[in-house]
Amino acid sequence: MQIPGAIDPVPVPRAAPVREDGRVDMIGLTKVELREALAAAGIPEGQAKMRASQIWQWIYNRGVTDFEAMSNIAKDTRALLAAKFVVDRPEVVTAQVSTDGTRKWLLRSPDGQEYEMVFIPDADRGTLCVSSQVGCTLNCRFCYTGTMKLVRNLTPGEIVGQVMLARDALGEWPSPPDGRLLTNIVMMGMGEPLYNFDNVKKALGIVMDGDGISLSKRRITLSTSGVVPMMARAGAEIGVNLAVSLHAVTKEIRDEIVPINKKYGIDELLAACAAYPGANNARRITFEYVMLRDKNDSDADAHELVRLIRKYKLPAKVNLIPFNPWPGVGYDCSDDERIARFSDIIFRAGISAPVRTPRGRDIMAACGQLKSASEKVSRAELDRRAAEKELSWDSAA
Ligand code: SAH
Ligand code: SF4
Repeated sequence: MQIPGAIDPVPVPRAAPVREDGRVDMIGLTKVELREALAAAGIPEGQAKMRASQIWQWIYNRGVTDFEAMSNIAKDTRALLAAKFVVDRPEVVTAQVSTDGTRKWLLRSPDGQEYEMVFIPDADRGTLCVSSQVGCTLNCRFCYTGTMKLVRNLTPGEIVGQVMLARDALGEWPSPPDGRLLTNIVMMGMGEPLYNFDNVKKALGIVMDGDGISLSKRRITLSTSGVVPMMARAGAEIGVNLAVSLHAVTKEIRDEIVPINKKYGIDELLAACAAYPGANNARRITFEYVMLRDKNDSDADAHELVRLIRKYKLPAKVNLIPFNPWPGVGYDCSDDERIARFSDIIFRAGISAPVRTPRGRDIMAACGQLKSASEKVSRAELDRRAAEKELSWDSAA
């Protein structure tokens, strides 16, 4: 086990801090944990369950952050709560709105870590793209998050906090009678959610809880770069839709651009997809495929993708993502005709392969640009960080 820090800057996730004032943030506690925390704070055992459910309603149906507003709780109990607990939100560093309606928030944790979330409104839905880590222990070559040195798992509270903050900003407490703007969540922000399994599971459990935010598992998608050993558990214990960042169909190219492939190869990954609980034609697995010029975008690649999907009999759709370059990356986006042709080959095989329209480019909210890509890092430095990260995988897994 390597020790992270200035002396040995190996990017294994570091621990989240506790609050300096000693109070506990209720956001991110499961119902059982909330009940236990109340009992530990001196609420009589017999009352703790009822109080927990009242507080849950205030927090997750009404968006209340002030115990004084919890009018069905006695005054002295409210004072006790305020002394021991908070109902917090992540600190907002910047909030931006794109000309296309996309919104991006840069958030900061109490220990100064910055992470982002993005809200993407569409005609029939509104999707919140949520981060699971600060940085990422993986180092996909085309992804800006992968170049970040420091990595910390976000806590359940920080993950749920993103949803709470978005609903604050959208004015969705309580849920509007004519439907919510925030209808879907994708775990596609910064970080690899399956390397922060416990916290992501807890957070999504809270978001799905029927007494609170009550978002259906069918409206939540977890995206993984292919942490094969955790995929079955994700299906069984979280049960949300699965997206897989495939990005290449040969070992050579996937090893290069999604290096976790060296550990869990394409066949292993697709077999895990085939076994993913709950995947069927009504709930297909999404394969994300970032279009990189002359790297993974040939006709042969498209045909091979079709062959693999058929071989594993996968209920699949393919999302073609125009690559979003950043300084120093060394890849280009495929041109429009190439992407259209690639999409067409997959479509003709009877598999849906829409091209994702980049959103929020004017505020750098597009995929892989979370955390402003202003820092130009040399190729040598990027390679060094990548090598360091690969060394740390065993301890991170
Ligand atoms: N770690 C998880 C989820 C976060 S990445 C995963 O890899 O699946 C979310 C998506 O953004 C991935 O499909 C990733 O490949 C894509 N992405 C990353 N950088 C990108 C870039 N520069 N341009 C376009 N898409 C990018
Ligand atoms: Fe991490 Fe996903 Fe980026 Fe890869 S694409 S470095 S797994 S955030």
